[in-house]
Amino acid sequence: MKHYDYIFTGAGLSALMTVYEMVLSEQFKNKEILLLDSNPKKTNDRTWCFWEEGKGDWKKIIYHEWDSALFANEKFSRTFELNPYQYKMIKGLDFYNRIFKRLSAEKNITFLHQEVLGFSESAENVVVQTKEEAFSCHKLFNSIYNSELVEKQTKYPLLQQHFIGWFIKTDEPAFDSDVATFMDFSVEQRGNTRFMYVMPTSSTEALIEYTLFSKDLLPREEYETEIKNYIQKLGISNYDIIEKEKGNIPMTCFPFWKENKKNIIHIGSAGGWTKASTGYTFKNTTKKSKALVAFLNKENDFRKFHKTNKFWFYDMLLLDILHHKNHLGSKIFSSMFRKGNPAVIFRFLDEETTFGQDLQVIWKCPKMLFIVALWNRIFKKQLYNNNKTL
Ligand SMILES: Cc1cc2nc3c(=O)[nH]c(=O)nc-3n(C[C@H](O)[C@H](O)[C@H](O)COP(=O)(O)OP(=O)(O)OC[C@H]3O[C@@H](n4cnc5c(N)ncnc54)[C@H](O)[C@@H]3O)c2cc1C
Repeated sequence: MKHYDYIFTGAGLSALMTVYEMVLSEQFKNKEILLLDSNPKKTNDRTWCFWEEGKGDWKKIIYHEWDSALFANEKFSRTFELNPYQYKMIKGLDFYNRIFKRLSAEKNITFLHQEVLGFSESAENVVVQTKEEAFSCHKLFNSIYNSELVEKQTKYPLLQQHFIGWFIKTDEPAFDSDVATFMDFSVEQRGNTRFMYVMPTSSTEALIEYTLFSKDLLPREEYETEIKNYIQKLGISNYDIIEKEKGNIPMTCFPFWKENKKNIIHIGSAGGWTKASTGYTFKNTTKKSKALVAFLNKENDFRKFHKTNKFWFYDMLLLDILHHKNHLGSKIFSSMFRKGNPAVIFRFLDEETTFGQDLQVIWKCPKMLFIVALWNRIFKKQLYNNNKTL
């Protein structure tokens, strides 16, 4: 059985960013590293958007960036400057190509296109079983998401951020490529939290996504009918669909990190690196991958990596509310964005605000809902059924 120092089961966003950080740090040149993925990562399987100050680490592969954003519901629409942030888009394939190109220059890093069946820890090693063979390693970084873990427990609610997106090209100019539609709740809510997300990359091209934060997925036709209706509402009659994407991102405060072992760490969505209240993962992964590489230079026990913070608790209250009263998402996000300072809201979502700034954001939300959610969390034992249905 071939032995490695580090094995990464899954080689998507979190694994590739972590290995890339290892390469940049130059502290891991003597470590044999294996990346395993059942997907060769040669297609554009997703588009990442995130907000960031300054040029950032990924400037060479930014596909488009916006200085302004729009928030709307059926009663109001607000366009605001994102300053000091910019909202940025990266195509998944550009990211994979860039990282694999850089990793190909490193003799100590191997990528194998193999499906992982499981892994287990013994006193000294971790053994990884793929469909073809077995490998052992000293430390394992797992980003293969185990949905059962969350679905079988009842303490933390699980919502999904689920969506279908169309990249369209119109015959006539139809979009303002300087303004990203962050959330447009003017679509029918039908008892859920439903909104449109529009990322125009030129006056004739945009990614249009119909998105829900809810427990159950919809039949494919329902997302697509809503996209068609919305395009019509924008006054667009002639267009081509260039590409489609779909996603289903877990939104939960389930403490994934409690599954970490001395030599096994769960990373990415599988490790709780997805922001529970929004589904955003890219930005958090840039921070966590740097922190993990710095941690590895000092520590040996992965159980010490995670630190819980106040934002985990805030997210839990929001998810408790949306789980019980899914139709209130529009009201909550609208109250935050109608008059709130966007820079403070984005800093809050980045988990970088002081307690005073937290209150500035939270105070704008319907207070009673959060007080009741807090009361229930502290004094009532609530049980959540997290099984998805279609
Ligand atoms: C379409 C889409 C759009 C998104 N857009 C955004 C966005 O705009 N902003 C944002 O912040 N987040 C976004 N996300 C959420 C999040 O950023 C991504 O899901 C991100 O890729 C998560 O990183 P990860 O490392 O946890 O998982 P992944 O990147 O999915 O990596 C996991 C890897 O494990 C591999 N794998 C799974 N099972 C096995 C197996 N048995 N054996 C071997 N390999 C296996 C997969 O092929 C995959 O490559 C989006 C997600 C999707 C799906």
